[in-house]
Amino acid sequence: MTETLEFTQQRSDRPKSAEERAAILANPGFGKHFTDHTAVVDYKVDADGSGGWSNARIEPYGPIMMDPAAAVLHYGQEIFEGLKAYQHDDGSVWTFRAEANAARLNTSARRLALPELPEETFIESLRQLVAADKAWVPTGDGEALYLRPFMIATEAFLGVRPAHEVSYRVIASPAGNYWGGELKPVSIWLSDRYSRAGEGGTGEAKCGGNYAASLAAQLEAEANGCQQVLFLDKFNDNAIEELGGMNVFFVFKDGSLVTPELNGHILHGVTRSSVIELAKDRGLDVQERKITIDEWRDGVAAGDITEAFACGTAAVITPIGELKADGWSIASPSAGSGEVAMSIRQELLGIQTGAVEDSRGWLTRLA
Ligand SMILES: *Cc1c(COP(=O)(O)O)cnc(C)c1O
Repeated sequence: MTETLEFTQQRSDRPKSAEERAAILANPGFGKHFTDHTAVVDYKVDADGSGGWSNARIEPYGPIMMDPAAAVLHYGQEIFEGLKAYQHDDGSVWTFRAEANAARLNTSARRLALPELPEETFIESLRQLVAADKAWVPTGDGEALYLRPFMIATEAFLGVRPAHEVSYRVIASPAGNYWGGELKPVSIWLSDRYSRAGEGGTGEAKCGGNYAASLAAQLEAEANGCQQVLFLDKFNDNAIEELGGMNVFFVFKDGSLVTPELNGHILHGVTRSSVIELAKDRGLDVQERKITIDEWRDGVAAGDITEAFACGTAAVITPIGELKADGWSIASPSAGSGEVAMSIRQELLGIQTGAVEDSRGWLTRLA
């Protein structure tokens, strides 16, 4: 079945007032406020075993009615995506590499035994939601409407098997600067007690369970005065994997840019792949390879590693200030400046916001 689903439209009869919306947009924060509408598409497996998507709709934002036995509430059969819509100077609204998010949603769906969603339906759900909530797209510097597509198993059944009823939804949240205010280098805690992912696990899938599993490590980070956690692969010479929700890069003095290779445990970040392309076009020697925590520590000590940074849709690119571990630490030589990181960040944000020409066809117009 390849036909694109038509979205029916039900407008909220209780949208937030223009004043309330203006107050939120003046200081959106991150992930705290939501727009007036939501996109929904249902999936059902019929008696003959064949499944299909139907009932695509825009409806008022509000609580989800769900049976307490819904599979997602018990076994965590859930996946999600995250991408941003930026308003350009002429008032048009664009999203960045949405096809990559559509493809990754389906990679995650296969791993979590959820149904794949056609790419056209994914893009159309974003387009319809942004059309309904265009007044919610923030216009401040670097601000955007954060889009959160997700898929949940809604079938009421306590047996353990892939659910026969699933719901795909999109919510939207105006987003200011992820870290609030100016861009400060993040401090990172090295978790040597917990892993984020393992061989054959779900590390490559964008699923809620990965985040639930990272929270204990995140608490440990906060107790040690850090903002984020770095996970290693203990069974592979303490190879660096990634942060709880961001990929990592290292800038070397000799002009190379190193990031951990996609080994099945690491999330395929769209920002990661964009940084790689932009860096290659600048003539940097980009290496996707194994890099261990010892190489980072020794590289900084010897002056070979000049910057470390983290990247993901929410925060775009953020310099890493310091890595703290139990009994030792690595102080980033770049603390604050991070010339390469900041320059790539500026180009990437420029493309997303329309200030820099999109020569790679990365943007899709939503409204
Ligand atoms: C989403 C995510 C990222 C970043 O991916 P982007 O597509 O760049 O936003 C990195 N790591 C994890 C674990 C993630 O869930």
